[in-house]
Amino acid sequence: MFLTLLESSRVVTQATQATADPPSVFLEDMGCQMNRLDSELVLGKLKREGFRRVPTPSEADVVLYYTCSVRERAEEKVYGHLGALKHLKREKPGMVIGVMGCMAQNLKELIFERAPHVDLVVGTSRFEDVAELLGEVRHGERVMALDRKDLGFDRDISVRPRQHTAFINAMRGCNKFCTFCIVPYTQGRERSRSVEDLIAEAKQLSDDGVVEVTLLGQRIDTYGLDLNDGTTLSKLLTRLHEEVPGLVRIGYITSHPNHMTDDLARAVADHPRISRYLHLPVQSGSDRTLKAMNRGYTVDEYRRAIDLMRNRIDDLSMATDWIVGYPGETEEDFTASVALLREMEFQGSFVFKYSPRLGTRAFDEGDPVPREEKARRNQVLLEEQRVISLRRNQVRLGTEVDVLVEGISKRDAGKYTGRTDRNLIVCFPAGRDLTGRLARVKLTDCTSLTLFGELV
Ligand code: SF4
Repeated sequence: MFLTLLESSRVVTQATQATADPPSVFLEDMGCQMNRLDSELVLGKLKREGFRRVPTPSEADVVLYYTCSVRERAEEKVYGHLGALKHLKREKPGMVIGVMGCMAQNLKELIFERAPHVDLVVGTSRFEDVAELLGEVRHGERVMALDRKDLGFDRDISVRPRQHTAFINAMRGCNKFCTFCIVPYTQGRERSRSVEDLIAEAKQLSDDGVVEVTLLGQRIDTYGLDLNDGTTLSKLLTRLHEEVPGLVRIGYITSHPNHMTDDLARAVADHPRISRYLHLPVQSGSDRTLKAMNRGYTVDEYRRAIDLMRNRIDDLSMATDWIVGYPGETEEDFTASVALLREMEFQGSFVFKYSPRLGTRAFDEGDPVPREEKARRNQVLLEEQRVISLRRNQVRLGTEVDVLVEGISKRDAGKYTGRTDRNLIVCFPAGRDLTGRLARVKLTDCTSLTLFGELV
């Protein structure tokens, strides 16, 4: 039924013309920060075409989901949302429903099969064409656009969720092929942007009021290697620090243990406005599991990567990712993960229960670790981490920190919340609006996730 995927495929549907003028769009993004940023780019394109953003699908002519395929739960959530739109679509047959991003790239026509009321499936390399693709749908066609093409990074800097902080896409794709991960298939190989491009974007954002930027890449520490001209992440960070003085924080996520270098450690240590936060996923504390996952390092090599950074950077704050219940993970493997978590004293851990992803190398191994066992392992790691995070936070009580204020706390409207340069969340009463500014705060209390304090 579907045409070749090399071009946008077009299938006639019942969709009729939408009537609202100007057209309205509801967009929800899921998954990683890269998706959040790509969805900002989509909104920027649509804004230029006259679309206005609305907060609920019921108000929208166009409903878009910018999806994640890394976990089964994320996909099921999208199908849940799509199911809830069936009635709305019956009432408003001109409404256009689109699925974009990794799930679209991976599941392709399966999305139309499971959710026949979807009009548009747009892969990871075609989101920049969203306005033209919507035009095709409005001419009565169901559209699937999955072909690969070089993406630009054209951005409307005024479209961003926060005024004072912004993500910048430094690169796309991943060359690593971890067995559980769909990213190299949905995002393609690593492509870095030039340093000049990134500095220009950072300057533009800084001129527009942004004081914190975070560089994004699936393996941000491989930034520049594909350019083959000596460009590295450490050089990029150093130049941003020197050439964009309006930035009070420069962050970078996510790192891979194989690419921690002394140059990077020095660049962070020597430049105070570069973040002292390192997100370095380990995934498992067992060499056997790491090998099965094709992670490319042993536990000892991971330790050495951390030592390299911790030895140079004072009080480095680290977070990691874990997968529990990977096929073949035994109790002994899991115990090794618990031991490594205790040894490394991470500030935070993101723990995920393994779920097989169609299209990955591990998919054929099935999902042999029972669901209840995965849930138990998940809880054990989270509790171990909670105890460590609390202890690490308690040690800080009585000290003063600089907090970049993000705004009013969602939990307590009488307080402001922000982060330190070590990505620690701090909540405090301010008496005046300090959003986007640095505040000196004395720490007085804490939980495992949040520090509390008072303005100095
Ligand atoms: S490094 Fe591994 S887990 Fe990370 S994006 Fe690449 S393939 Fe996926």
